[in-house]
This record gives sequence, structure tokens and C-alpha cells, in this order.
Amino acid sequence: MTPEEFRQAGYAVVDWIADYWATLPERPVTSQDRPGAVAAGLPTAPPAEGEPVESVLADLDKLVAPGLTHWQHPGFFGYFPANTSGPSVLGDLVSAGLGVQGMLWATGPACTELETVMLDWLAQALDLPARFRSTGPGGGVIQDSASSATLVATLVALHRAGGGRWREVGVDRRYRVYASTEAHSSIEKAARIAGLGVDGVRLIEVDPVTRAMSPAALRAAIEADRAAGVVPALVVATVGTTSTTAIDPLPQIGPICAEHQVFLHVDAAYAGAAAICPELRFGHAGLEYADSYCFDPHKWLLTGFDCDAFWVADAAELVQALTVLPEYLRNAATESGVVIDYRDWQVPLGRRFRALKLWFVLRWYGIEGLRAHIRSGVALAARFADRVRADDRFELMASHPYSLVCFRLRGPDGPNERLLAAVNSTGRVYLTHTRVAGKHTLRLAVGAPQTTETHVDEAWELISQAAALPD
Ligand SMILES: *Cc1c(COP(=O)(O)O)cnc(C)c1O
Repeated sequence: MTPEEFRQAGYAVVDWIADYWATLPERPVTSQDRPGAVAAGLPTAPPAEGEPVESVLADLDKLVAPGLTHWQHPGFFGYFPANTSGPSVLGDLVSAGLGVQGMLWATGPACTELETVMLDWLAQALDLPARFRSTGPGGGVIQDSASSATLVATLVALHRAGGGRWREVGVDRRYRVYASTEAHSSIEKAARIAGLGVDGVRLIEVDPVTRAMSPAALRAAIEADRAAGVVPALVVATVGTTSTTAIDPLPQIGPICAEHQVFLHVDAAYAGAAAICPELRFGHAGLEYADSYCFDPHKWLLTGFDCDAFWVADAAELVQALTVLPEYLRNAATESGVVIDYRDWQVPLGRRFRALKLWFVLRWYGIEGLRAHIRSGVALAARFADRVRADDRFELMASHPYSLVCFRLRGPDGPNERLLAAVNSTGRVYLTHTRVAGKHTLRLAVGAPQTTETHVDEAWELISQAAALPD
């Protein structure tokens, strides 16, 4: 494809994406296809001769788009939002066009330096503790996901707990990771990958009302483990749990970690974005105790997947834990010690120029534009929660500090399961579920860029009507 051919095909693809976004509201949010339907529509072998991009676009319309769940649809309320936006797509396009590998400073200096500055910008925008800025011993990096951030934090914590011996001998003692019973599954996965096994994770009970980690239970678990010869290595606290957006109390958890010299990682994958609004920073109280922190701009900050922002208070410790320097990567800049080589801050070697999409997003919207997006999500969730609260058939199952509302029909689980299925089968909205205190609970998470009051009100109407139907 010559640059001239790319220009023509590229315009057509941009037009296709713009049309896709413009027609989202008319599409069913989810596909009703059976498993295998999309694969059955595709040829069984690749084409022998090349085809024009127009043919691919036609098949995108015919075969792919109808088989999707439309995460940017204004009626998408499932899981957590996974925003994208025009500026994010354009930044990613530039990254793809440049095709730079940013593993070392020397392999693309601007790729590294723009990333460092973007993470400092974000730290400032979220008012994170000064210890995470690159101007001191700390600093930030983009990981592909919060799961990877937690894995990296786990490895650094093992490095620290092993007194530097972990690099040589691996996990040679009984190390333990602590997180609440409501914490994300990526913590268990990281522990398994790190060689601790599921038994290496101790799940700490939560307060029955707030669903936040009990500091007293954490302290008791750490003290009992130490008495038994186990080494507490890592506590992962969550700001905005996946199930209900509960907030673990960092002001109490932090001092326990400091007293027992346990690494503290804070996972704010979804809720962290809210801190761009000064009035929504309550979840970050006590964050100054954290050794590392992450949130996903790719969830609620209008930046497409993959973009997890991860900060550490001590970058040298992180690099010590992960660095391996083969001869073929040696270079003068690395040896000078004045540059960052982000390959040492992550699991893979290679890395894309992901800072570009953040740069495009931050410059297009500005901090005020991003605040408006977050505030709209919070206000729409509150509007929906008011409807639920005003209807005696329903109960709210958790508070809604951000843009997630957890609710259910009073009574047994069966009608709730049927309600969710009925509402989702309309194709107008998509909600998912969780279990709160053992009860089947519906989750409505606001955050898609096009969602307005109309869509939230329609969701409520559909739910209210479906609930009125006889079982
Ligand atoms: C979504 C979520 C994750 C996982 O995020 P990825 O970036 O997809 O790995 C981790 N923790 C919490 C609290 C989450 O809500």
C-alpha cells in the first residue's frame, strides 16, 4: 500500500468509523447471534490475491458489526464503561502509523519522554501524592491493563519482601498477598503467575454495609501470618470495587502496611478517573501511604483500550526487580543513568507509543472537558438511583459514589434473573449483574460517551415495565 493508496483507504475507514458512531443508537446493543454464527459467515481460507479495502469495509458491515456488543452504544450499561473517543482513536492511529517500539529511551526518545510527561500531567490532574511524580524517586508508566499493573506491583512486592534475593532464588518462602473478598480477580491471577498459588492470597472480610475491607481483619491476618512464619508481602486495596464500587479505607490500611513493612498497591481501575473532579477525590484519602497506584483511563476517561496509568513511589526498586540487560540492548543513554527505559517497568520488552492517545485526549477535551464527562456519569447514575429509590418494588444494594448503581427487585433471585434477561433482550440497553451479600443484583454502570438523560430514563422505563409483567 503506497502512501497515496493509504490516504484514500484511510479516508474511507475514518468515514466508516464516523458512520458507525453516528448510527450506534439505532443498533441493538448486543448481538443475538448464536456461537459460531460469525465464523460461519467467513471464508474458510485467506484470499490468494489481494482485495481492495472497500471489500473489507463491506464485510465489516455485513459480518462483523452485527456480531458485536456495542460498548460505545448510549444504552450500554454493563460491566464498567470502556470509553473511546475521536481524539483517542486519532492518537492511536498516529501511534500505529509511526510504528515505534518504545522499549528503551534510545529506541524512540520522544516515545518515552512524552509518556513521562503525560503521567506527570495525569498525576497533577488527579492531585495524586507528590511521591508519584517523576521529579522525585517515583514516576508513572502506561501498562496495557490494571491486571498488568497488579502483576508488576506483585513482583516488586516480592522483590522487596525477599530482601533482594527474590531475583535470584524466586519464591523460596511462604509469601502472602492480602486483598478484600470483593477485590478483582486479577489479584489472584497475578499471585498465580508469580508462583504464589491461590493459597498465597488471603481474602480479608469486608464491612457488611460498605463492602470495604475491614482494617481490623487485615491487621489480625497479617499478625497471625507473621506469628506463623509467613511473610506478608503485598496488600492490594481497592478504590471502587468491581462489584459495587466500595472504597477500602486507605487511612486505616496504610498505617498497618507501614508498621509491618508490607508493600501497598492501590487498584482504582475504574473509579480513579473520578479524581479529576476535586469533589470526587474522597476515594484517594490516604493514598500517600501507597507504594504503587493504578487506574484505567481506558475505562472512564475517554481513552481507548489499552491504557492503564501506573505509578510507583520508588522507581529504582521497580527497575531492580524487573531489569535484565542483554548485550544487544546495551547503549550509551542507558549506561549514562539519566534516561528511563520503560521496558524495565513492565512484563514485555516491546511497547507501543500509547502516550499519544492520552496527549490527544488531554489536549482535545482539556481537564474541564474530562470533568464534564465524569460529572455527567455521576449525575445520570444519581438520577437512575432516584427512580429506584422511589419505587417500593426495588431496593438499592449499595451506595453509588461514582456512576454505578446496584439494585434489585425485593425478594428472591429468580425474578431478578428473569428481569435482567427480559430487559437485555429488548436490544435497547445492556446491563450486567453481580452478587451482593449473596443476592442476585443488577448493575447499571453509566459512562458511554453518548449516554444522556434520555437513555437512562429509557433504561428505567424498560426495567419498570418488565418488572410489572407477570412471571
Ligand atoms: C476492571 C478492573 C480491573 C481490571 O482492569 P483491566 O485493565 O481490564 O485489567 C481491575 N481492578 C478493578 C477494581 C477493576 O474494576
